Amino acid sequence: MTGYFRQSRWQRKGELIEPTIFELSQGRKDGYYRFSIEKELFEEIENAKELIPEKLMREELNLPNLSEPEVVRHFSRLAEMNYGIDSGPYWLGSCTMKYNPKINERIAANPKVRQLHPYQPEETVQGALKIMYELGEMLGKITGLRHWTFQTSAGAHGEYLGCSIIRAYQLDRGEKQRDEMLIPLSAHGSNFASAAMAGFKVVKIPIDDKGCTDMAALKAAIGDRTAGMMITNPNTLGIFEEDILEIAELIHGAGGLLYYDGANLNALLGKVLLSEMGVDIAHLNLHKTFSTPHGTGGPGAGAVLVKDGLEDFMPIPMLREKNGRYYFDYNVPKTIGRVKAFYGNFEVLVKAWAYLKTLGSEGLRKVSEIAVLNANYAFAKIRKLKRVSVVYGEDKPRKHEFVVSLKGAKSEIDAPALHVAKRLLDYGLHPPTIYFPPVVEEAFMMEPTESDSKEDIDYYVEVMRRILEEELEKNPELVLNAPINSSIDRLDEVRAAREPILSWKIYVRHYKGKKA
Ligand SMILES: *Cc1c(COP(=O)(O)O)cnc(C)c1O
Repeated sequence: MTGYFRQSRWQRKGELIEPTIFELSQGRKDGYYRFSIEKELFEEIENAKELIPEKLMREELNLPNLSEPEVVRHFSRLAEMNYGIDSGPYWLGSCTMKYNPKINERIAANPKVRQLHPYQPEETVQGALKIMYELGEMLGKITGLRHWTFQTSAGAHGEYLGCSIIRAYQLDRGEKQRDEMLIPLSAHGSNFASAAMAGFKVVKIPIDDKGCTDMAALKAAIGDRTAGMMITNPNTLGIFEEDILEIAELIHGAGGLLYYDGANLNALLGKVLLSEMGVDIAHLNLHKTFSTPHGTGGPGAGAVLVKDGLEDFMPIPMLREKNGRYYFDYNVPKTIGRVKAFYGNFEVLVKAWAYLKTLGSEGLRKVSEIAVLNANYAFAKIRKLKRVSVVYGEDKPRKHEFVVSLKGAKSEIDAPALHVAKRLLDYGLHPPTIYFPPVVEEAFMMEPTESDSKEDIDYYVEVMRRILEEELEKNPELVLNAPINSSIDRLDEVRAAREPILSWKIYVRHYKGKKA
């Protein structure tokens, strides 16, 4: 049966209804010959075969055998099943899913941007290098950290680079014994993994009732083995680490460096200089804060910035400017080397550049003001709902996001955060981040961002009220069986994590093979 007949998405609940493109084309031989224009194209390709030496020819190439409309419809059906930031609110705390202005996409899609090749000589790409350079200088101004690289293609990748620089710095000073990285429990989860991957022993620092780094515990943990500390600020509870200056002083006093996870800069843009907080190294996720949609691991850029004095450890090559000419400099004295081929995800950089150019410093300040206002407005309303509680920092304002606990609903249903999240889907809302950070039981981590209107926020709150205060009392089954309106119903997430089927061939071998 082909996808054509199966496109009624609500016919078969509980199954991925859209077949893969390979399944659709099974048994078909004529797909691309159906339209004369395509036929001509393929005849040309057939003729071109004479030009290719025999030994370079493939014997077989298993491409799907479909016509253009069949392919378009297949991908359109898949796109309709998807939920994106262009579909509705997407409060995925710590991930900053905000609206990305289409003009930036259009600029990045310009053929002059798209068709560049990384092996082009520098003289032919001066404009592109200028964009990268200007972006670096703007981010330098926003953070107060003057040296930057765009080589890292994700936030965690930036953390890994930052940790590598910290190690190189300590070795350079002859401090080989410094093998410990201090990380508060309110930091992003990737920090712990990146530090461990870079070879550090991770020392976890507890947090206090205010939701901030526990200062007594920090003081007790600092010692001659301290290489540095990684801090996320505002932290993953959305709370500003108010002791940041004292933390920086303690770490520096002990001979360490302070790494700052700036993946979500939405609350601080144009407001606070990281350099003034005593930060030595930071990464910013251009694919969260600076206009590249993120999620499902799309192309990213974890720009890394360092303060004066650490520039000699940066990865090669560094982009520089001299007399109006831009060039890559491989002469970085104590470089840690390369962490990626070429110079980063250029189109992501173009979007960030366009975003900053169009907003300007006033616009950026407005972004952070509205992001903080929206988060606090939503927080004030949601914390008042029945069964919702606030665990840390009860009387503290939030920055870009907030975390509430749904453990108050445990008397009605098990695992309420999971079930309520699924029920939100039925109202056309993307659920927030759940069960993170792990310090909050039944955590709901919500980040409205600056792109949602007051009406969007009020709708989200009203849906939460309806689920938590009406449905859970009158009809908990509805919540337990959610979602019922989405294109597919609840997935077996545990099995998906334990037995990931990442290629069509494995899928066929394991599942279709068994059935047959
Ligand atoms: C998303 C995020 C990261 C990791 O970024 P990736 O690009 O997903 O690797 C790190 N820290 C914080 C605070 C984040 O929100």
